[in-house]
Amino acid sequence: YYDVLIVGAGHAGAQAGISLRQLGFEGSIAMIGDEKDPPYERPPLSKEYFAGDKSFDRILIRPASFWEERKIDMLLGLRVKAVDPAGRFVTAGDREIGYGKLIWCTGGSPRMLTCNGADAPNVHAVRRRDDVDAMMAKLDRIDHVTVIGGGYIGLEAAAVLSKFGKKVVLLEALDRVLARVAGEELSRFYEAEHRAHGVDLRTGARMDCIEVTDGEDGPRATAVLMEDGERIETDMVIVGIGIVPETGPLIAAGAVGGNGVDVDEYCRTSLPDIYAVGDCAAHANGFARGAQIRLESVQNANDQAKTAVSHIMGKEEPYHAVPWFWSNQYDLKLQTVGLSIGHDQTILRGDPATRSFSVLYLKGGKLIALDCVNAVKDYVQGRAHVISGAVLDQAQLADANVPLKEVGL
Ligand code: FAD
Repeated sequence: YYDVLIVGAGHAGAQAGISLRQLGFEGSIAMIGDEKDPPYERPPLSKEYFAGDKSFDRILIRPASFWEERKIDMLLGLRVKAVDPAGRFVTAGDREIGYGKLIWCTGGSPRMLTCNGADAPNVHAVRRRDDVDAMMAKLDRIDHVTVIGGGYIGLEAAAVLSKFGKKVVLLEALDRVLARVAGEELSRFYEAEHRAHGVDLRTGARMDCIEVTDGEDGPRATAVLMEDGERIETDMVIVGIGIVPETGPLIAAGAVGGNGVDVDEYCRTSLPDIYAVGDCAAHANGFARGAQIRLESVQNANDQAKTAVSHIMGKEEPYHAVPWFWSNQYDLKLQTVGLSIGHDQTILRGDPATRSFSVLYLKGGKLIALDCVNAVKDYVQGRAHVISGAVLDQAQLADANVPLKEVGL
């Protein structure tokens, strides 16, 4: 039995444990995680870690000794299969572990292709350290990589691989990359950057299946076959087509949810004393104008964990953190603030040809989000406008010579 049981040892789980002790929680705490490692940062998996620029030790969220010092029992390599909300225990392996409060922080599993060949051993997702280690172990021996999916993870992986001199084909089924998260200006800019770096980036690309060939070491993917009959030869396939939230045991236990488990402004699920936090939690986000969404970001994982913990500690501090996110590709640092969902206008600030510019998203004349490429000042100064929700002077917003903090009404 633990007073607080955290399920999932990722970003949200780690922050929950850290915050509980920071706020003086003296009860017993355990964290159950199905990976073998203590919590580590996931963003570098498609960036510095994949590129070999950061070792695993450097991406640990806290040194391994931290958890012992804070008296947080780490039950690693263990997967929770069931939750009993009436009996207040979870089943993990052959153990039943009781709880006072449960914080569900399980993130999501990579959505995989369902076509023929999708389960070949050289078809990889990018979610866990193990995924990336498996790819890194093979990189020396391969030339051609096909990346499926033009979201942030696919694009970041393509950037690293092209830096390694691999011949990369990136296939995006929609008519532009980043279509779900960004405006067209940003998509076109990144498409051009990748092509300039030698990536064969294709939009509107309809794949059919993966060709698998039996070799000396067993079966492996050797080509991606397109609907139009084209055969793209490949030595490795990387799939970055989103995640499916890991909510099975909670939903089976009766928690309300669909795409993620539903939580209120304190991150409470519909089950007593069970909170859900991070990628798996669907919440009404004020910056999405109240829409029920899941956010897949470190910011959201950390801030929701703090919200749940402060509620456990008896405070009522509803979740209302400003969303922010980043992506590194080549020498481009993208920083975003706010949520562009539902925008009805975009303003381009600065010239993409200079490789330093911002895309501003407005709704009803109000600035609701910014995507800033190598434009740290815009990112820092735009934040206050996203929070205030004021209607701003559009000519000034579009003029990169007027600092955003000086833009008036
Ligand atoms: P996770 O960090 O995924 O942790 C969940 C943990 O729970 C995992 O270890 C999982 O194995 C475990 N688990 C699942 N089910 C069970 C179970 N039943 N029992 C026990 N354990 C279980 N965000 C950004 O803000 N910026 C970025 O640049 C960025 N880049 C990214 C790059 C990559 C390659 C990836 C994969 C993600 C990136 N993200 C980025 C997203 C960010 O990493 C996630 O939003 C964040 O990790 C969410 O934290 P979480 O705790 O909800 O889930």
